[in-house]
Amino acid sequence: MKVLVPVKRVLDYNLKVRVKPDQSGVDLSNLKMSMNPFCEIAVEEAVRLKEKGAATEIVAVSIGPDQAQETIRTALAMGADRGILVKADAEMEPLAVAKILEAVVAEEAPGLVILGKQAIDDDSNQTGQMLAALLDWPQATFASQITLDGGKATVVREVDGGLQTVAVELPAVVTTDLRLNEPRYASLPNIMKAKKKPIDLKTPADYGVDAAPRLQVVKVTEPPKRQGGAKVKTVDELVDKLKNEAGVL
Ligand code: AMP
Repeated sequence: MKVLVPVKRVLDYNLKVRVKPDQSGVDLSNLKMSMNPFCEIAVEEAVRLKEKGAATEIVAVSIGPDQAQETIRTALAMGADRGILVKADAEMEPLAVAKILEAVVAEEAPGLVILGKQAIDDDSNQTGQMLAALLDWPQATFASQITLDGGKATVVREVDGGLQTVAVELPAVVTTDLRLNEPRYASLPNIMKAKKKPIDLKTPADYGVDAAPRLQVVKVTEPPKRQGGAKVKTVDELVDKLKNEAGVL
Protein backbone atom coordinates (compact mmCIF):
# COMPACT_ATOMS: atom_id res chain seq x y z
CA MET A 1 0.00 0.00 0.00
CA LYS A 2 1.21 3.44 -0.94
CA VAL A 3 1.10 6.24 1.67
CA LEU A 4 0.97 9.88 0.63
CA VAL A 5 2.33 12.40 3.13
CA PRO A 6 1.78 16.12 2.46
CA VAL A 7 4.54 18.13 4.16
CA LYS A 8 4.51 21.90 4.58
CA ARG A 9 7.48 24.26 4.88
CA VAL A 10 6.85 26.70 7.71
CA LEU A 11 8.75 29.10 9.95
CA ASP A 12 10.80 27.00 12.40
CA TYR A 13 8.79 26.44 15.57
CA ASN A 14 11.67 27.65 17.79
CA LEU A 15 11.60 31.13 16.31
CA LYS A 16 9.61 34.04 17.59
CA VAL A 17 7.11 35.30 15.04
CA ARG A 18 7.53 38.96 14.03
CA VAL A 19 4.62 40.81 12.50
CA LYS A 20 5.45 43.10 9.55
CA PRO A 21 5.17 46.81 10.43
CA ASP A 22 2.34 47.27 7.89
CA GLN A 23 0.38 44.40 9.57
CA SER A 24 0.05 42.61 6.23
CA GLY A 25 1.49 39.36 7.56
CA VAL A 26 4.45 37.73 9.29
CA ASP A 27 8.02 38.68 8.44
CA LEU A 28 9.79 35.59 7.07
CA SER A 29 12.89 37.28 5.67
CA ASN A 30 16.17 35.51 6.50
CA LEU A 31 14.50 33.23 9.03
CA LYS A 32 14.98 29.49 9.35
CA MET A 33 12.19 27.46 7.77
CA SER A 34 11.54 23.82 8.67
CA MET A 35 9.04 21.06 8.16
CA ASN A 36 5.78 21.69 10.03
CA PRO A 37 6.11 19.60 13.25
CA PHE A 38 2.78 17.76 12.68
CA CYS A 39 3.99 16.82 9.18
CA GLU A 40 7.17 15.36 10.71
CA ILE A 41 4.92 13.19 12.86
CA ALA A 42 3.02 12.15 9.70
CA VAL A 43 6.26 11.17 7.92
CA GLU A 44 7.44 9.25 11.00
CA GLU A 45 4.15 7.33 11.15
CA ALA A 46 4.35 6.45 7.45
CA VAL A 47 7.94 5.24 7.90
CA ARG A 48 6.89 3.10 10.89
CA LEU A 49 4.06 1.59 8.80
CA LYS A 50 6.62 0.75 6.12
CA GLU A 51 8.98 -0.75 8.67
CA LYS A 52 6.10 -2.94 9.94
CA GLY A 53 5.39 -4.07 6.37
CA ALA A 54 1.99 -2.34 6.26
CA ALA A 55 3.11 0.25 3.70
CA THR A 56 5.21 -0.37 0.59
CA GLU A 57 5.96 3.11 -0.67
CA ILE A 58 5.91 6.60 0.88
CA VAL A 59 5.47 9.65 -1.33
CA ALA A 60 6.07 13.07 0.26
CA VAL A 61 4.38 16.00 -1.46
CA SER A 62 4.83 19.69 -0.78
CA ILE A 63 3.12 22.67 -2.33
CA GLY A 64 5.28 25.74 -2.06
CA PRO A 65 8.32 27.60 -3.39
CA ASP A 66 11.52 25.97 -4.74
CA GLN A 67 12.90 25.84 -1.19
CA ALA A 68 10.10 23.43 -0.22
CA GLN A 69 12.33 20.84 -1.91
CA GLU A 70 14.44 20.99 1.28
CA THR A 71 11.35 20.00 3.25
CA ILE A 72 10.77 17.09 0.89
CA ARG A 73 14.47 16.10 1.23
CA THR A 74 13.99 16.01 5.01
CA ALA A 75 11.06 13.61 4.52
CA LEU A 76 13.20 11.52 2.14
CA ALA A 77 16.02 11.44 4.71
CA MET A 78 13.55 10.22 7.34
CA GLY A 79 12.54 7.34 5.07
CA ALA A 80 10.10 8.51 2.38
CA ASP A 81 10.85 6.99 -1.03
CA ARG A 82 10.19 9.84 -3.44
CA GLY A 83 8.81 13.34 -3.54
CA ILE A 84 6.58 15.66 -5.52
CA LEU A 85 7.04 19.43 -5.39
CA VAL A 86 4.07 21.41 -6.67
CA LYS A 87 5.68 24.77 -7.22
CA ALA A 88 3.70 27.74 -5.98
CA ASP A 89 5.32 30.99 -4.90
CA ALA A 90 2.19 32.61 -3.49
CA GLU A 91 0.80 31.59 -0.10
CA MET A 92 -1.58 28.68 -0.74
CA GLU A 93 -4.86 28.43 1.10
CA PRO A 94 -6.04 25.07 2.49
CA LEU A 95 -8.74 24.71 -0.20
CA ALA A 96 -6.21 25.14 -3.02
CA VAL A 97 -3.83 22.71 -1.28
CA ALA A 98 -6.65 20.19 -0.80
CA LYS A 99 -7.62 20.44 -4.49
CA ILE A 100 -4.03 19.86 -5.59
CA LEU A 101 -3.74 16.93 -3.19
CA GLU A 102 -7.00 15.52 -4.58
CA ALA A 103 -5.40 15.52 -8.04
CA VAL A 104 -2.18 13.97 -6.69
CA VAL A 105 -4.27 11.25 -5.05
CA ALA A 106 -6.03 10.58 -8.39
CA GLU A 107 -2.62 10.10 -10.02
CA GLU A 108 -0.88 8.17 -7.24
CA ALA A 109 -3.79 6.10 -5.85
CA PRO A 110 -2.48 5.83 -2.26
CA GLY A 111 -4.31 3.66 0.30
CA LEU A 112 -3.74 6.26 3.00
CA VAL A 113 -3.00 9.97 3.17
CA ILE A 114 -1.43 11.12 6.44
CA LEU A 115 -1.36 14.87 7.01
CA GLY A 116 -0.53 17.03 10.00
CA LYS A 117 -3.58 18.12 11.98
CA GLN A 118 -2.54 21.72 11.38
CA ALA A 119 0.22 23.84 9.98
CA ILE A 120 1.77 25.98 12.70
CA ASP A 121 1.92 29.04 10.44
CA ASP A 122 -1.75 29.45 9.50
CA ASP A 123 -3.18 27.16 12.23
CA SER A 124 -5.96 26.38 9.77
CA ASN A 125 -6.61 22.74 10.68
CA GLN A 126 -8.58 22.43 7.44
CA THR A 127 -6.59 20.72 4.71
CA GLY A 128 -7.10 17.09 5.78
CA GLN A 129 -10.82 17.60 6.32
CA MET A 130 -11.24 19.37 2.97
CA LEU A 131 -9.25 16.68 1.17
CA ALA A 132 -11.40 13.90 2.68
CA ALA A 133 -14.53 15.78 1.60
CA LEU A 134 -13.26 16.34 -1.95
CA LEU A 135 -12.29 12.67 -2.28
CA ASP A 136 -15.39 11.47 -0.44
CA TRP A 137 -13.07 9.32 1.71
CA PRO A 138 -13.47 8.61 5.42
CA GLN A 139 -11.35 10.73 7.72
CA ALA A 140 -9.86 10.23 11.18
CA THR A 141 -8.41 13.47 12.50
CA PHE A 142 -6.13 14.17 15.52
CA ALA A 143 -4.74 10.62 15.55
CA SER A 144 -2.72 9.52 18.57
CA GLN A 145 -2.57 5.89 17.42
CA ILE A 146 -3.05 4.23 14.02
CA THR A 147 -3.43 0.48 13.53
CA LEU A 148 -3.89 -0.99 10.07
CA ASP A 149 -5.65 -4.30 9.69
CA GLY A 150 -6.60 -5.56 6.25
CA GLY A 151 -8.61 -2.89 4.51
CA LYS A 152 -9.30 -1.00 7.72
CA ALA A 153 -7.56 1.54 9.95
CA THR A 154 -8.36 1.79 13.63
CA VAL A 155 -7.48 5.24 14.85
CA VAL A 156 -7.42 6.56 18.40
CA ARG A 157 -8.35 10.24 18.26
CA GLU A 158 -7.56 12.96 20.78
CA VAL A 159 -10.83 14.69 21.52
CA ASP A 160 -11.82 17.18 24.20
CA GLY A 161 -11.77 15.38 27.51
CA GLY A 162 -10.52 12.00 26.30
CA LEU A 163 -9.81 9.57 23.53
CA GLN A 164 -12.15 8.30 20.84
CA THR A 165 -11.44 5.16 18.82
CA VAL A 166 -12.81 5.03 15.30
CA ALA A 167 -12.52 2.45 12.52
CA VAL A 168 -12.35 3.68 8.91
CA GLU A 169 -12.29 1.77 5.65
CA LEU A 170 -9.24 2.39 3.48
CA PRO A 171 -8.50 4.44 1.48
CA ALA A 172 -8.77 7.13 4.12
CA VAL A 173 -7.38 10.45 5.28
CA VAL A 174 -5.75 10.61 8.71
CA THR A 175 -4.33 13.69 10.45
CA THR A 176 -1.71 13.47 13.18
CA ASP A 177 -1.81 14.79 16.72
CA LEU A 178 1.21 15.51 18.90
CA ARG A 179 1.27 12.26 20.85
CA LEU A 180 1.15 9.89 17.83
CA ASN A 181 4.92 9.38 17.86
CA GLU A 182 8.27 11.07 18.32
CA PRO A 183 9.80 11.76 14.91
CA ARG A 184 13.32 10.43 14.31
CA TYR A 185 16.31 12.57 13.41
CA ALA A 186 17.60 11.73 9.96
CA SER A 187 21.05 10.12 10.16
CA LEU A 188 23.90 11.51 8.05
CA PRO A 189 24.00 8.43 5.75
CA ASN A 190 20.24 8.76 5.22
CA ILE A 191 20.60 12.48 4.45
CA MET A 192 23.21 11.55 1.82
CA LYS A 193 20.97 8.78 0.41
CA ALA A 194 18.03 11.19 0.26
CA LYS A 195 19.94 13.40 -2.18
CA LYS A 196 19.62 10.63 -4.78
CA LYS A 197 15.90 10.00 -4.29
CA PRO A 198 13.70 11.46 -7.06
CA ILE A 199 11.54 14.59 -6.70
CA ASP A 200 9.00 15.30 -9.47
CA LEU A 201 8.43 18.96 -10.24
CA LYS A 202 4.86 20.07 -10.98
CA THR A 203 2.70 23.20 -10.96
CA PRO A 204 -0.93 23.71 -9.85
CA ALA A 205 -1.78 24.14 -13.57
CA ASP A 206 -0.49 20.60 -14.28
CA TYR A 207 -3.34 19.42 -12.07
CA GLY A 208 -5.85 21.88 -13.54
CA VAL A 209 -6.26 23.60 -10.17
CA ASP A 210 -7.11 27.27 -9.90
CA ALA A 211 -5.09 28.25 -6.83
CA ALA A 212 -6.30 31.86 -6.70
CA PRO A 213 -6.88 32.96 -3.09
CA ARG A 214 -10.45 33.11 -1.77
CA LEU A 215 -9.55 34.86 1.45
CA GLN A 216 -8.22 38.32 2.09
CA VAL A 217 -6.05 38.90 5.16
CA VAL A 218 -7.36 42.10 6.67
CA LYS A 219 -4.58 42.50 9.23
CA VAL A 220 -2.18 40.56 11.40
CA THR A 221 -1.35 41.82 14.89
CA GLU A 222 0.78 40.68 17.83
CA PRO A 223 -1.14 39.12 20.73
CA PRO A 224 -1.74 41.61 23.57
CA LYS A 225 1.19 41.82 26.00
CA ARG A 226 0.56 39.85 29.19
CA GLN A 227 0.26 41.89 32.36
CA GLY A 228 2.86 41.06 34.97
CA GLY A 229 1.74 39.05 38.01
CA ALA A 230 1.62 40.50 41.55
CA LYS A 231 1.85 38.97 45.02
CA VAL A 232 -0.93 39.74 47.50
CA LYS A 233 -0.29 39.92 51.23
CA THR A 234 -3.66 38.86 52.58
CA VAL A 235 -6.70 36.84 51.61
CA ASP A 236 -8.79 39.99 51.88
CA GLU A 237 -6.57 41.72 49.35
CA LEU A 238 -6.89 38.71 47.02
CA VAL A 239 -10.69 38.69 47.31
CA ASP A 240 -10.76 42.44 46.71
CA LYS A 241 -8.64 42.10 43.55
CA LEU A 242 -10.74 39.20 42.26
CA LYS A 243 -13.90 41.25 42.83
CA ASN A 244 -12.81 44.68 41.74
CA GLU A 245 -9.95 44.17 39.28
CA ALA A 246 -10.48 40.78 37.64
CA GLY A 247 -14.28 40.97 37.99
CA VAL A 248 -14.53 37.20 38.46
CA LEU A 249 -16.34 37.16 41.81
P1 AMP B 1 -3.60 23.38 7.66
O1 AMP B 1 -4.94 22.91 7.24
O2 AMP B 1 -3.05 24.52 6.80
O3 AMP B 1 -3.49 23.69 9.13
O4 AMP B 1 -2.55 22.18 7.37
C1 AMP B 1 -2.79 20.85 7.80
C2 AMP B 1 -1.87 19.89 7.07
O5 AMP B 1 -2.13 19.94 5.66
C3 AMP B 1 -0.37 20.13 7.18
O6 AMP B 1 0.18 19.58 8.37
C4 AMP B 1 0.15 19.39 5.94
O7 AMP B 1 0.17 17.98 6.15
C5 AMP B 1 -0.96 19.70 4.91
N1 AMP B 1 -0.59 20.93 4.16
C6 AMP B 1 -1.09 22.18 4.32
N2 AMP B 1 -0.52 23.04 3.46
C7 AMP B 1 0.38 22.31 2.73
C8 AMP B 1 1.30 22.62 1.67
N3 AMP B 1 1.43 23.85 1.18
N4 AMP B 1 2.05 21.60 1.17
C9 AMP B 1 1.93 20.35 1.66
N5 AMP B 1 1.09 20.01 2.65
C10 AMP B 1 0.32 20.96 3.17
